[in-house]
Amino acid sequence: MIYADVIVDIALGSLDRVFQYRIPDSLAGNLSEGSPVIVPFGKGNRMITGYVTGFSDSTDYDPGAIKEIHSLVIGGMSIEQRLLSLAVWMKKKYGCTLIQAMKTVMPVKKKIQLRKDRWLVRQMKAEELHGLLSVCRKKNQKARIRLLEALLQDEAIPYDVVLNKLNIGKSTLDSILEAGAARLVEKEKGKTAEDRNREQTAPLFALNEGQRRIAEDFIKHFDSQDPGISLVHGVTGSGKTELYMEMIAHVTAQGKQAIMLIPEISLTYQTVMRFYRRFGEQTAFIHSRLSQGERYERFEQARAGQVNIMIGPRSALFTPFERLGLIVIDEEHEGAYKSETVPRYHSIDVAKKLARDANAGLVLGSATPSVDSYTHALKGAYRLYRLDQRAQKGSVLPKVTVTDLREELKQGNRSIFGRALYQAVLDRLERKEQAMLFLNRRGYSSFVSCRSCGQPVSCPHCDVSLKSHRNGRLVCHYCGYSIPMPALCPSCGSPYIAGFGAGTQKVEALAAKTFPQARILRMDQDTTSGKDGHKKILAAFMAGEADILIGTQMIVKGHDFPNVTLVAALAADLSLYAGDFKSTERTFQLLTQAAGRAGRGEKAGEMIIQTYAPEHYSIQAAARQDYQMFYEEEMTYRRMMEYPPCKEMAVVTLSSGNEEKAAAAAREIAGRLTRFGPEGLQVIGPADAYISKINDVYYKTIYMKSAEIRLILNAIQDVRGFYEWTDWKKSVMIQFDYM
Ligand code: ADP
Ligand code: ZN
Ligand code: ZN
Repeated sequence: MIYADVIVDIALGSLDRVFQYRIPDSLAGNLSEGSPVIVPFGKGNRMITGYVTGFSDSTDYDPGAIKEIHSLVIGGMSIEQRLLSLAVWMKKKYGCTLIQAMKTVMPVKKKIQLRKDRWLVRQMKAEELHGLLSVCRKKNQKARIRLLEALLQDEAIPYDVVLNKLNIGKSTLDSILEAGAARLVEKEKGKTAEDRNREQTAPLFALNEGQRRIAEDFIKHFDSQDPGISLVHGVTGSGKTELYMEMIAHVTAQGKQAIMLIPEISLTYQTVMRFYRRFGEQTAFIHSRLSQGERYERFEQARAGQVNIMIGPRSALFTPFERLGLIVIDEEHEGAYKSETVPRYHSIDVAKKLARDANAGLVLGSATPSVDSYTHALKGAYRLYRLDQRAQKGSVLPKVTVTDLREELKQGNRSIFGRALYQAVLDRLERKEQAMLFLNRRGYSSFVSCRSCGQPVSCPHCDVSLKSHRNGRLVCHYCGYSIPMPALCPSCGSPYIAGFGAGTQKVEALAAKTFPQARILRMDQDTTSGKDGHKKILAAFMAGEADILIGTQMIVKGHDFPNVTLVAALAADLSLYAGDFKSTERTFQLLTQAAGRAGRGEKAGEMIIQTYAPEHYSIQAAARQDYQMFYEEEMTYRRMMEYPPCKEMAVVTLSSGNEEKAAAAAREIAGRLTRFGPEGLQVIGPADAYISKINDVYYKTIYMKSAEIRLILNAIQDVRGFYEWTDWKKSVMIQFDYM
C-alpha cells in the first residue's frame, strides 16, 4: 500500500504538518509531488484543497482509519500551485528536501497586528517648507533637513520609505508632523490594482533612440505572447532603469504584474522613489529590515491584487502575483542573487522557471553581464540589446589609467598611493570634488604573516587568517576568535612577523597622514556593523561631509554620488587570484562598475587602477571599458579548463563537526559517483573546501562536471537518495550547489 503525504495549508507556518491519505485506484499513477488534490478533512470531513508532498509505503496509524483522497484538481494553475511547482523543481535541481524548498518559496504566515499602509503627505506650501528648512539648516539638524528636502521633491512618500530608506527616526518625524509640514495618511483600501494603475504618471522625459528601439522590440514580442528572455547590456548610466520602467508600464497597462529585482545594496531611497514617482500606489517594495509579518502582509497585498509592482532583493521573486507578466533583474551579474543558504538557488534560474510557468517575460540587465548570461545571449537563447552611451547629456564615461605598482617601487615610491593617484587626490581636494578609494577584498590584506616562514596567523577554529585591528588584536571574521598581536611567529618562533599590505583601517591612517587637509570617512564591515551604519556613512558622504571615502568594494556598488570624480582601486590584484575560477570575472566586473561610479553627474570622472599585474586581461579590459575583450579572453580560459559555461559544474559539500566523519562521507559519495555515475560525468575530489573549517565545522567538497546538465541533475538525485539511507545522515550534512 502506498500513502500520499498531503499538506492542506501551504501558507501555514508549520509546513511540516503533513497528513497521510490513501490513494484510490482511480488515481494510482496519476499523482506526483506537487499535485493539487481534494481531500476530506477534520471531524466533518469538509472537502478542502491540499497538495501532495511525497509518498510513503507505511504508516504509523491504523491503516483502516486513514482517509482517501477524493480527487485530483484539474484546470489552470493557481498561484499556490505555481509556487508549489517551483518548490518541487527546486528540490530536484538543488537536492534539498521539499520542505526546505517550500519554506523558501511560500510566504510564512504570521499573525500580526494589521498595520495600514501609510504615506507621509506634504501639508505646507513650498515657501513655508523653505522657511522651515533654513531654520533647520542653521541648527544643522541633518535628519530634518533630509526629510524636508525630500518633501520638497515629492509630495507623498511611503512611510516605510521614510523610515527605512531615508533613515528618519521617530523623533524627527514627530517634530515634522508637529510643525504641520506633513501628515500621515492611510492608503485607500478600496482601490483595485486597475484604479491604481490609472494613476501612474508619464515619464519625465522621452526615451532616447536606443531605449525606444529596445522598448518597442520588447513590446512587440510581449504583445504577440512571446515575451522570452532578454539581456540588456548597457553601460552604467545608459538609462537601463528608465527602460525597465517603460517595459513595466506596458506590462501593467495590460493588467499584468511585474517583479523588479535590485540587489539590496542598490535599493536606495532614490531608486525606490523613482518607481513610486512613476507608478504611485500600485508599487510595493520589500527589504531585509522588514519583519516576517510585514513581509507576509506585503505579499498578501500582492495576492489580493492591491499592487502590481514588487521591488526588492531576491526574495521578491516569491511574490504571489496571480497575473505575473514580467520579471526584471537589474545588475544581473551580482553575487547577491545567489542564496547562501539551502536551497542555494540562483535568482536567474528561479526567475526562468517562474517566467516559463506564467508565460511572463524575463529581462536581465547589466553593464557587465555574467559570462554565463552573455553566452546564452550570443547563442540566441536570449535576445541581446545594447545601450552604449550614457543617457544624460554631457555625461561621458570616465577616463581610466593603470598604475604599475612594481614600477612605483622601482622609482622609490613605497607608499600605497602611486604618484598618479597622489596627484589626482590633491587635484580633487583643490577643486572641492570627492574621491573614493577602495580595496577589493575586505580585511583580506590585513592578515599577519611571518616573513621567515611565510605562514599567516590563522584562526584555530576556521582555517582562515586572522585580521589585525588597530587596537592591536588579531580577530577572526568568521567566529570572532581574537588574540593579542603575537611578538613571535606561532609557527616558527621568528620575530619577523608583520601585517601584510594594508586593510581599510590602515589605508585610512595612511591617507590621513598623506593628505592632512582632507576630511576622510571609512566604510567597511567594522564601521557599519551598527544599525544603519553604512547608510549613515553614505548619507554623510553624499552630503559632502568628507572629501575622501575609503572602504571595501561595497562603496562602489550602486550608489550615485554626483560630486565623486575620482575612484581608485588601491590594489586591484587583491581579488584577482582569490578563491575560485570566477574571481577573474568578479574582478573585471568590480573594476568596470567602479569606473561607472566616477563622474555620473555633470563633471568628468576618472578612475585609477593600481596593480601588480597591469598586463592581466581583466585589468586591461576594465581599463578600456571593453566588455567584448574581457569576454573573449575569459572564454578562451574557460574552454581550456572546461569550466562553465563550457561545461556544467556542480559541487557536493559534506559538513560535520567531526572531521573524519565528513571525510569518510565525502570519500563514500565520491566513490559511488565514480563507480556508478554515468559515462560523461567527471568526478573531482573529495577535497577540503576553500574555507575548510568554519566555527569548528569541517567542510569537504566533491566537484562534478559534465557536458550535459541532465547527468548532473541525475547525479544529485542519486546522491540525495543515497544520503537518506546512510547511517551517517545524522552527523553529516549534505548540500548541493552550482558553479
Ligand atoms: P542605468 O540604470 O543604466 O544606470 P538610468 O536609467 O539610471 O541608467 O539613467 C541614468 C541617468 O540618465 C538618470 O539620471 C536618468 O534620469 C537619466 N536618463 C535616463 N534616460 C534618459 C532619457 N531618455 N533622457 C534624459 N535622461 C535620461
Ligand atoms: Zn614563521
Ligand atoms: Zn574563527
